[in-house]
Amino acid sequence: VNKIKNAKLVLLGDVGTGKSSLVLRFVKDQFVEFQESTIGAAFFSQTVVIDDTTVKFDIWDTAGQERYHSLAPMYYRGAAAAIVVYDITLQASFARAKKWVQELQAQGNANTIMALAGNKADLLDARQVEIEEAKKYAEENALFFMETSAKTAANVKDIFTELAKRLIEA
Ligand code: GDP
Ligand code: MG
Repeated sequence: VNKIKNAKLVLLGDVGTGKSSLVLRFVKDQFVEFQESTIGAAFFSQTVVIDDTTVKFDIWDTAGQERYHSLAPMYYRGAAAAIVVYDITLQASFARAKKWVQELQAQGNANTIMALAGNKADLLDARQVEIEEAKKYAEENALFFMETSAKTAANVKDIFTELAKRLIEA
């Protein structure tokens, strides 16, 4: 029997961390060096098949700019899954990611499965956020954590697939 599960997924995080690039990699397996800034939010759809279940993600890729902050609850409310993204080369983006996690914990749905993505993992020479620091934070906050690269595709499919698995188990 084939089961279909619809899941709203939201990406949150500072502008420039690579949210749109992660979605583009996941949905079209493409990467562009000069990805345009998202205005408001963009919508995408992609499926993941896990055994006999097809998980259909309705993906909301938010902008990340402060001026759009008041719109964020529209996107994370009712979300089955959230990916909070930071850029491993910018400590400030990790601080911002923690703020998003706090906001989701306080205002979001308690059932939302949350992932933390340390993106741009290909830029090792410019690293500012240590993997151990992020891992520890993720464990303390019951987040599932991966370093990703939209550029090389490392861990991109994996993070969405892991979320799909957790959604099925939930
Ligand atoms: P967003 O504002 O969070 O949606 O970020 P974008 O997806 O627009 O990406 C911002 C910039 O970072 C763009 O120039 C991307 O090409 C670049 N970028 C995104 N992901 C990666 C990555 O994994 N590695 C590298 N080196 N650059 C990336
Ligand atoms: Mg964007």
